[in-house]
Amino acid sequence: MKVLKFGGTSVGSVENMANVKSIIDNGEKKIVVLSAMSGTTNSLVAIAKAIENKDKTDALHAVNVLLDTYIPVLKTLLTDAALHTEATNYVNSRFDVLKAATSSTYTQVLENEILAQGELLSTFMFNCYLRQEGIASTLLPALDFMKTDAVKEPNFDAIAKDLSDILNTSEQADIYITQGFICLDVNGEVSNLQRGGSDYTATIIGAAIKAEEVQIWTDIDGMHNNDPRHVEGTKPISNLSFDEAAELAYFGAKILHPQTVLPVKKDGIPVRLKNTMDPEALGTSITHHHTETGIKAIAAKDTITAIKIKSGRMLQAHGFLKKVFEIFETYETSIDMITTSEVAVSLTIDDDSRLQEIVSDLETFASIEVDKNQSIVCLVGHAIVNDAGTHKLFQILRDVKIRMISYGGSNNNISLLVDTSNKIKTLQKLNSYLFDFATV
Ligand code: ASP
Ligand code: MG
Repeated sequence: MKVLKFGGTSVGSVENMANVKSIIDNGEKKIVVLSAMSGTTNSLVAIAKAIENKDKTDALHAVNVLLDTYIPVLKTLLTDAALHTEATNYVNSRFDVLKAATSSTYTQVLENEILAQGELLSTFMFNCYLRQEGIASTLLPALDFMKTDAVKEPNFDAIAKDLSDILNTSEQADIYITQGFICLDVNGEVSNLQRGGSDYTATIIGAAIKAEEVQIWTDIDGMHNNDPRHVEGTKPISNLSFDEAAELAYFGAKILHPQTVLPVKKDGIPVRLKNTMDPEALGTSITHHHTETGIKAIAAKDTITAIKIKSGRMLQAHGFLKKVFEIFETYETSIDMITTSEVAVSLTIDDDSRLQEIVSDLETFASIEVDKNQSIVCLVGHAIVNDAGTHKLFQILRDVKIRMISYGGSNNNISLLVDTSNKIKTLQKLNSYLFDFATV
């Protein structure tokens, strides 16, 4: 069986839902994972924020504004009177939950329940639509099987068991529809897999059922070789290995949730990125195969903080790095990039919520410099450290000040740290040195 995930834009309008229907209606049995309609999760985040800020009127107003966007969709999507009524009643019941939340006291659990409504709405409506179109489809509620453990990672064993039990006992269908993003945490409370988590849901399910393939359908024709928001003439990459895709997703390629490929890598289940608006386009296929060497793609990740740790005691001393790492471990902060010299270490973190405590602990034995507003520019490809073409990237040193370079840490990633004000220039210049053969 295949798992197909459709993102917010793909279910964001009646017209797009009709496109999704024609893509999935091919007689093959499949599981379809849906995001919330585009814009919904952002609105739900704003509603939760208003409740947290005790702006009850704002929160209620935002709930009503959101409800108003659903009414015309229901009307156009569901022309069958009975299904229209069924879906409208359901939508109203979800909005009743949201309205009630606006008079409740804010808690993280309340926020998670609010955020979960988007996927519950989109899947229910879409399932009614498929039934209206004569397709044998049924809902698989994600909260019946998608569970995370004490460290907020998917509980793969429980998911595989529960999902297989549900598939064996539920009404037989051609198409099983389920919610992306939402899950139950270790305490049995509603939670989620972080923003963009529907991609992750799809590969977790793919791993659980040992799917033939996982397809992620979005509104762009695959992963591009540079950031299309900042660089002109970027191109979709036809093949990536799991490792290359993982690095790109983690280091900023917005098309995929950072953890997406991890669940399916072990079993080598292929992941294909496809475009709902242009189903014939090749897209990107992610497998174990390495097709060519050399730099394939560039991505950038913002809001990075660099920390320089300088100490005379580092000179020829062993155990220094252990001491440094222990501090980051204590404050549960993961390190992305690291470079060292004989007297100093520079490293970067993404989550700076414990920065003050980290810095004050480090200051007990070293002098510290902190640079905020940094971006990691990540270059990915197979065996790039061995590829002669890689030298071209170093021309960038003429154009912008590079704060750190991480080279040789892995065979498929080279990372540069630049001030965020230089990020776009770095992406554009690297594009011309590495991919725009006409100008090199
Ligand atoms: N609806 C969620 C979000 O907007 C999850 C997803 O779309 O993947 O982040
Ligand atoms: Mg997404």
